[in-house]
Amino acid sequence: MRDLSAGPRVLLRRLRELMAEPLEPQERLDQIVRQIAANMVAEVCSFYVLRADGALELFATEGLNKDAVHLAQLKMGQGLVGTIAASARSLNLSDAQSHPAFTYLPETGEEIYNSFMGVPILRAGRSLGVLVVQNKARRKYREDEVEALETTSMILAEMIAAGELKQITRPGLELDLNRPVTIEGDAYGDGIGLGHVILHEPRIVVTELLNDDIDAELQRLEEALGSLRISIDNMLSRRDVSMEGEHRAVLEAYRMFAHDRGWVRKLEEAIRNGLTCEAAVEKVQSDTRARMIHMTDSYLRERLHDFDDLANRLLRQLTGFVPGSKGLPQDAIIVARAMGAAELLDYPREAIRGLVLEDGAVTSHVVIVARAMGIPVVGQVIGIASLAENRDSIIVDGEDGVVHLRPLQDVQDAYADKVRFRAKRQEQFRALRTVEPRTRDGKYITLQMNAGLLVDLPQLSESGASGIGLFRTELQFMIASTMPKVDEQESLYRNVLRQAAGSPVTFRTLDIGGDKVVPYFRSAEEENPALGWRAIRFSLDRPGLLRTQLRALLKAAAGAELKLMLPMITEVNELRLARELLNKEVRHLSRFGYQLPRSLQFGAMLEVPSLLWQLEELMEEVDFVSVGSNDLFQFLMAVDRGNSRVADRFDTLGRPFLRVLRQIVEVANRTNTTLTLCGEIAGKPLSAMALLGIGFRNISMSPAAIGPVKSMLLSLDLGKLEEALLPMIADTSSEKTVREFLMDFADANGVSL
Ligand code: PEP
Ligand code: MG
Repeated sequence: MRDLSAGPRVLLRRLRELMAEPLEPQERLDQIVRQIAANMVAEVCSFYVLRADGALELFATEGLNKDAVHLAQLKMGQGLVGTIAASARSLNLSDAQSHPAFTYLPETGEEIYNSFMGVPILRAGRSLGVLVVQNKARRKYREDEVEALETTSMILAEMIAAGELKQITRPGLELDLNRPVTIEGDAYGDGIGLGHVILHEPRIVVTELLNDDIDAELQRLEEALGSLRISIDNMLSRRDVSMEGEHRAVLEAYRMFAHDRGWVRKLEEAIRNGLTCEAAVEKVQSDTRARMIHMTDSYLRERLHDFDDLANRLLRQLTGFVPGSKGLPQDAIIVARAMGAAELLDYPREAIRGLVLEDGAVTSHVVIVARAMGIPVVGQVIGIASLAENRDSIIVDGEDGVVHLRPLQDVQDAYADKVRFRAKRQEQFRALRTVEPRTRDGKYITLQMNAGLLVDLPQLSESGASGIGLFRTELQFMIASTMPKVDEQESLYRNVLRQAAGSPVTFRTLDIGGDKVVPYFRSAEEENPALGWRAIRFSLDRPGLLRTQLRALLKAAAGAELKLMLPMITEVNELRLARELLNKEVRHLSRFGYQLPRSLQFGAMLEVPSLLWQLEELMEEVDFVSVGSNDLFQFLMAVDRGNSRVADRFDTLGRPFLRVLRQIVEVANRTNTTLTLCGEIAGKPLSAMALLGIGFRNISMSPAAIGPVKSMLLSLDLGKLEEALLPMIADTSSEKTVREFLMDFADANGVSL
């Protein structure tokens, strides 16, 4: 029997020699197609490259009319070649001209060829071009011949990716791979980063494409697969994932794939065809991606992620790749499909200018950590990981949620201006840090910041905030892979208080559930998680958990002031139940001789509308109330805060919401209760101005917002605003929206927005 793999191996060896020879790019391509045609006993071999304008241009041919090179072209989706590129699938036809997509290009003289085999040139699942062989005689190419041509096409993919074809691209035209791309995503972390792409998932380089010794390479594969399986088994047997849960389901899927015969067979076949293990993994991964990427079934798309992840793990086993270990540029912008928080921390912070994710959500751990580190982040950037190449220039705009890959010069210039402008503004805000936050007419406003991790703390002095108005304790739980123990909680709170150095900190007890997912608490699927078993409801049903946290807080604040507040209070009675638990902890600690906090303030978040009809009792029960305007608005207007289709549908500065807020202020004033507000609206100068206008004197926001809000209030005559705003809100006949009124007021009175 003929050794099926001998042909491809001879060919690959020959191609490797060609790659090493000092040839001009066109000459190299011509020789490559000649070699392929000879080796495959084909009369024609042609190579088409996808240009930025979507045309597939003939770059080299053996057998067709050579004058057509760089002239003949097909559109993406047009003809057999265009179909292959568009679908990223191979075509194997014994009677090409009867195929519905067949298009005849007269300049090539290809009418006499009946058999046709074409393969996409893939990189990370995306088509860069097409490689074709043709024969006059009608024949169907064997599976192993298709496989061999696909393997060969990887060399061409590397040539394109390495930029070698730029020199023979006609002036004024651009290859698709170098095309500037702008993708809109979601802004997750403010700031603008200019720099160069670092792909988080490794991609191999051409030098290691072809193997010298099949058996040795098969052996390497077996060993790497062995270690991969062991590492997955180890992860599965670790205590923190051995319970039922998502982690486990994902790892079980990995384990299944790691033993998948089909996958292993494809890898072995690619190695027998002459590829190194790394190249084989890349090839099989690319083929799988190309096949699965168009699937709409979300279950199967999830499986694609698993496969991708597994392939990346295997590549890491093979290459010993450690993220960021070698040659990280000083302006690295990390591009990843998805990423864990710990993986981000593997990169040196000083080199990272931005983070771009194909997946991700505002509440993804990696996003929370990146934001806390002050890294601009854009997520939901569909396709970026396949479009970007290492070292491509890239701009991350975390202000507008846009990514510009390989930006043109004018875009780069515009952004350089934008960055300069931002830096200047930042400097002005920094100068305000020590300026007292008093309005032009002398009213003192307390500006506090929101925080959730220890990394946020330096911002306290950098922003000039007078304290932390909201410390989201759930973040520690969200980024941990196992539940933080009591001493870990205590240690965080102690550190926070130490670093706050006497500035007040308001700790909010666990607010998990809803959009805040903690992987190790598995509860039943909920149809409406925002209205479900979350926050204080969860804490009261799991009193052990709440008591543990209260104990950690009490101990951490020994001898100091402790301010704590409870999230999602719906009925005043919940506060009483929580206070009983707090009292139990206080008694418990004093019985065992622990020092207690010097003073204790007990507060409630006002974010569920039912409290609006219990305002008097509520204020009676607590030392302070903090309005969580994000949730209060969500529940009041019945708009999901995480659903971009409706989240911006109604105006937070509309009359209904402002009337509600005004009502809260009135009761707080009447009952002499300290009132703050810590939702997003506190952080925008215009809405912060509205809040002051309806009577708020204490607001808490993200640290970056302190400067702009302070700059606004320093220029504000608050008395004058109040006088005009309150009637405006009560007005039932005005055509003018409150937002318009506020903008006009700012304009007319020189308020800096
Ligand atoms: C809010 O709901 O407004 C709030 C501050 O809390 P969170 O955003 O954490 O739900
Ligand atoms: Mg809330």
